[in-house]
Formats: sequence, C-alpha cells, structure tokens
Amino acid sequence: MFILLLGAPGSGKGTQGKILAERLSLPKITTGDLLRAAARDGTPLGREAKKFMDDGKLVPDSVILSMIKEELAKPEAQQGAVFDGFPRTAVQAELVDRTLGERTQRLNHILLLDVPEEELVRRMMARAAQEGRSDDTPEAIKTRLQVYQRDTAPLIAHYAERGIVHRVPGNGTVEQIATEIQRVIGR
Ligand code: ADP
Repeated sequence: MFILLLGAPGSGKGTQGKILAERLSLPKITTGDLLRAAARDGTPLGREAKKFMDDGKLVPDSVILSMIKEELAKPEAQQGAVFDGFPRTAVQAELVDRTLGERTQRLNHILLLDVPEEELVRRMMARAAQEGRSDDTPEAIKTRLQVYQRDTAPLIAHYAERGIVHRVPGNGTVEQIATEIQRVIGR
C-alpha cells in the first residue's frame, strides 16, 4: 500500500507518518530528511539544496526527481511506503504516478492534514525554539506557506479526481489524529 501525507508545513506529516509507517510496517520516505542529511554531510546535492531550503523555497525538481527515483527503486519500497514531503509539485506527482504505474501499482490513499494557518505558524515557531531548524525563521516560514499554496495545494484537486483524498483535521492530539488516520484508511 502506498500512502501520501499531504499538508502545509507544520501540519504534522512527519509525526503522523512515523506512527503510520510503524503501525503498517511500511518504510517512510521523507525527502526533507534526506535533503537535511545531504546538507549535513556536505554532499554536492546537499550544498545545492540547502540554499533553497534555508530560504523556504522548493529545491528544484531537477535535483529532487533523481532522489525520488532512487528511493522508489529500493527493495524495501517495492510493496508499499508512506511518502512524507513528496510529491510536492505537478512534475514530481507525474514521476510518482508513472513509476508506480509501470509497476502496476498506484497511490492508494492521500491523507490531507488540515490545520489552520495560525496554528501552523505557532507550531513552527515552537519547533524553531526546540530544534533550531534553519528554515523555521519567520521569513522562511512565510515563504514555505506561500509555496505550499502555490505549488503543492493544487495536487489535492489532481488526486481528488481519483477519489483517494481523505481530509483529516490536524488539530487534535497526536493520538486522536493517528486513530482517525487508521480509521479512514481502514486499518
Ligand atoms: P515542511 O513540510 O515543514 O516544509 P520538509 O522537511 O518537508 O518540511 O521540507 C523542508 C524543505 O525541504 C522544503 O522547504 C524544501 O526546501 C525542501 N524539500 C523537501 N521535500 C521537497 C520536495 N519534494 N521538493 C522540493 N523541495 C523539497
């Protein structure tokens, strides 16, 4: 089973994705974590990506597409996975749809974590104090929210046509939201 967590920055994709992947024994693929690891390691890809991430902009598809291809090709991702943080653009969605399609697979569920914008900002500012992520600054947060609305939110309509989008209110406790997610995917 392939599940995509979709939602604005700060909506809890990482937290819920981890719980869901553990409960379903599926690997979780998180492009943000992969990019942050590459940036920490100082690889050419990581150095290139960091410039965009720190500004709250999307890393260009030219960089991301090969990363997604590589992740989808891994043996542990052949039967299913939880995707966190991608696809995030129409071009990425096309690659994911095509790659799974060639394997006679498809995205089974899209979970849209729906959180009001004031709450998103509050969470990211709280996280900035705790984790010191370099893109949790007021300026980068503003850009990330705008980029989400412009580039990623349109994917909702793309997938809604296939009837696989479930809207999950993201403002309960972590456990309440996790339970609701399991309910909507029927597991
Ligand atoms: P958030 O959802 O809070 O923005 P992520 O860890 O998913 O956190 O992403 C952090 C940053 O990493 C993004 O602002 C972007 O620069 C980069 N990034 C992550 N995934 C992608 C992707 N699929 N395409 C382009 N950029 C990405």
